[in-house]
Amino acid sequence: MALSLTVLGCSGTYAAPGGACSGYLLRSTTTTVLVDCGPGTLANLQEHVSLLDLDAVVVTHEHPDHWLELPVMRNALKYGVRRTGVPLFTTAGTLELGRPFGLAPGAFTAATVADGDSVQVGDLVFRFFRTDHPVETLAVRVDCGDESVGYSSDTGPGWSCEALGEGLDLLVAEATFRDGDGNGPVHLTARQAGEQARAVGARRLVITHLAPGSDEAGAVAEAADAYGAPVEAAQVNTTYAV
Ligand SMILES: [Zn+2]
Ligand SMILES: [Zn+2]
Repeated sequence: MALSLTVLGCSGTYAAPGGACSGYLLRSTTTTVLVDCGPGTLANLQEHVSLLDLDAVVVTHEHPDHWLELPVMRNALKYGVRRTGVPLFTTAGTLELGRPFGLAPGAFTAATVADGDSVQVGDLVFRFFRTDHPVETLAVRVDCGDESVGYSSDTGPGWSCEALGEGLDLLVAEATFRDGDGNGPVHLTARQAGEQARAVGARRLVITHLAPGSDEAGAVAEAADAYGAPVEAAQVNTTYAV
């Protein structure tokens, strides 16, 4: 219980100055899981928990901004804290790309997850949903007792956070683009993120995966207009209690 989400990195595509790419720490009173392991997240993770306390890692897809810190974390586990067998749940494509780095077996014990799968780690239950993105990408719903968090990962508008189901206390939704900027269907706009959060009835919306240099206040205003309530933009090293 007492579920929380800490942002370790939230930059879309590449890290903003002083920032990091996607990484979110999900914690209950007994369980700690890292969701996505983008470049820069390992340093920030250690601001909050020890690598000895990490119960599992989930990586949502094989795009470099979501997994490329895994080989570095492998080295930290192997040569630093000397841990083996940290459970790693990710897509088949991510495991294939990670193979030359010797992620598993070794520092990690890997398992492939796909659309419709669910995994329990301690008191956290993860459910995975295939999104609309050029590679196999998994949105995640995390339930802990009667508390819940949704994370869109990366998705175009051909998939909706509505698929995560109702009752979300917190939705972290990507909002890479702005309404009308014509960037194509690979990601959501801030407006679409707000619309989806409203449709699924999420009680709180945090937008994320904004491109470095983008107008954060403008994106927040656009998302809030569609959501019908205040919205926050993810901030590195900020913890959102559920
Ligand atoms: Zn991304
Ligand atoms: Zn992506």
